Amino acid sequence: MSDLLEVRNLKKYFPIKGGFFRHTVGHLKAVDDVSFSIPKGHTFGLVGESGCGKSTLGRAILRLHEPTGGEIHLDGTDISRLNSRELVAHRREMQIIFQDPYASLSPRRTVMQTLLEPMEIHGIGNPASRKEKVLELLDIVGMRPNVLHRYPHEFSGGQRQRIGIARALTLDPKFIVADEAVSALDVSVQSQVLNLIARLQRELGISFLFISHDLAVVQHISHEIGVMYLGKLVEVASSTDLYRKPLHPYTKALLSAIPVPDPDSKTRRTILQGDVPSPLNPPSGCPFRTRCPEAMDICARSMPALKTVGEGNNGLPHQVACHLY
Ligand code: SF4
Ligand code: MG
Repeated sequence: MSDLLEVRNLKKYFPIKGGFFRHTVGHLKAVDDVSFSIPKGHTFGLVGESGCGKSTLGRAILRLHEPTGGEIHLDGTDISRLNSRELVAHRREMQIIFQDPYASLSPRRTVMQTLLEPMEIHGIGNPASRKEKVLELLDIVGMRPNVLHRYPHEFSGGQRQRIGIARALTLDPKFIVADEAVSALDVSVQSQVLNLIARLQRELGISFLFISHDLAVVQHISHEIGVMYLGKLVEVASSTDLYRKPLHPYTKALLSAIPVPDPDSKTRRTILQGDVPSPLNPPSGCPFRTRCPEAMDICARSMPALKTVGEGNNGLPHQVACHLY
């Protein structure tokens, strides 16, 4: 299976300023040496607690944040090496959907204007073909043509997210980052929008990086899942394998925090101890060791590398960064 996206050793460090002259006194390693790939038409779920670097990773891949190091190959082009002019030509291939479409939809533009704008900016088609495309997009996201002249405030959160998705599709992207795209929605609306994204991924063959703090949300929509902790990927596996046989103690704790439908279930719950350490001052060795119920001596001395420990039933490797394996 060919990869649409391949991220190699990606880093995004933010300088920390201090002292009288506001000089750089250190770095916040928001994304620290992250490597993974997404096959064409697959959804890669990225989970972890807030502040673990998920959004920064998503933005660094799109170069909305300038990466500190590493490579980003999208369909054969190393995005990280492009200058700003070359990057413009590739912008249309990669889009982002935000948690709050309100923030990305202009309150003064109608749905029609919002959906036409990206095509006008990129000089795609003519007025008639652009209008036809807008109607097609509305149909794809399940909205009627009578919404075209309405403004964002006239819609519910779920409808606004459909408009945000339609806008992300105007330029026929190959890759979409969905950053907490359903987190602000009611549970029933969440599943409608998730179904829509799953259908787009299947029918249009788009690859998604689906970011969420909620493992239960990414489970059904993702082919593969990456678990992130303090700027690092600590486990990557197919969705099935990650749920059936999680390996990393952090993944196990996240999974056991998902409410079980059967209240009499004997499933043992691992309660996560303490808070996430400050990324300004991460622990030595394994970043998870201050909260890990299985920490050993070696965990304080050496950082475990992400390594393949097996192959899942669908041929996707199971990778984990932990000294237990
Ligand atoms: Fe826990 Fe050690 Fe594994 Fe880190 S490396 S998750 S501290 S057992
Ligand atoms: Mg975020």
